[in-house]
Amino acid sequence: MVCRTAGSEIESETGMKPDKVPFKYLGINVSPKRLSVLDCHCLVEKVVERIRGLGARKLAYSGRLVLVQSVLSSLHSYWARIFIIPKTVIAKIKAVCGRFLGMVRASEGGLGIKKLYDWNIAALGKYVWWIEQKADHLWVKWVHFIYIKRGIWKEYEPSMNSSWAWRKICQVKTIFHQLFYGNVGQMTGQYTIKQGYKFLRPDIEKVSWAALMTVKWMVPRHRFCVWLIAQERLLTQDRLMKMQIITGNLCFMCGLVEVDHEHLFFRCEYSRKCRDLVHSWCPFQLPTEKCCEWWMKWRSRSLARKRVIAVVMAALMTNIWWCRNKCRVDMLLFRPECLVRQVHNEVRLRLSSIRLGSKNSKVLDWLDIICKN
Ligand SMILES: [Zn+2]
Repeated sequence: MVCRTAGSEIESETGMKPDKVPFKYLGINVSPKRLSVLDCHCLVEKVVERIRGLGARKLAYSGRLVLVQSVLSSLHSYWARIFIIPKTVIAKIKAVCGRFLGMVRASEGGLGIKKLYDWNIAALGKYVWWIEQKADHLWVKWVHFIYIKRGIWKEYEPSMNSSWAWRKICQVKTIFHQLFYGNVGQMTGQYTIKQGYKFLRPDIEKVSWAALMTVKWMVPRHRFCVWLIAQERLLTQDRLMKMQIITGNLCFMCGLVEVDHEHLFFRCEYSRKCRDLVHSWCPFQLPTEKCCEWWMKWRSRSLARKRVIAVVMAALMTNIWWCRNKCRVDMLLFRPECLVRQVHNEVRLRLSSIRLGSKNSKVLDWLDIICKN
């Protein structure tokens, strides 16, 4: 009764109306209880709205990837830091992004698409760390006063009556126990979400072809194309045949053999000619087999050399794919010399800007050979 009186007094004084939980604050639903899939529906709607926005369908693959990354980064940097996103909602978002990128699933390998669920847990790890450090936040003070009281946070167990959100934060503490309190000494200084994410997913660096994608210097448009080639996701003749879109599977460029990724980029006479021409200005031998395999073999080479090879190879493969599409749509086949000139221009443009920031004389010599030829 007292509360009701106080409540109505506040209402008449401020003019604000009482609301029920969950209520919306800065666009998100706030509730001490578990958020239902329905509560998070607006989140899925936002993603769909942005991805299916005006003109998004007309974007090239690299543009689509940038869009997906930007949508997911807003989820990572805002929503995932505030509350626990239900797994069903994450699955829906991933499906929307995957379909937009033309893939069965939008995995993280090399494209910078983080696992949303793990990122979410890593983001919540920040709260656990704040409580441990007794950070100067009103919320942390409140938590210590109401829940932990004079207990030790490391050993704290929530009661059954605690709210769902609080119990979840305590669960996150258990997940990060080894990182925060283990003897391995991983935790130095301030906790970062990136650190927590790496702790949760130590195997992300081990994806073989992901190593290729993380090579610096590569043009983003080329990077995405190489990634699709590595996964054999481009719509080559063999895939179009399987989809029953075409009936014949002869190569558009050499008109001879059955076409798949391996043929198009490595075995085709046209591609071979282009590769030979690239060797006239590139000081390194380019790989003659599928990218994942050669990359694994070339691991021991110097980093700068690998970067240069990756930039050249990515430009060459992207242009071969472009040329093949031109051939398919416009029945127009460019001479290998023209295609390689285009590759050289793109590589030169990319490496010239890198050359300005490089101090290594050996690297400068390589870049000079490529850029001035
Ligand atoms: Zn061919």
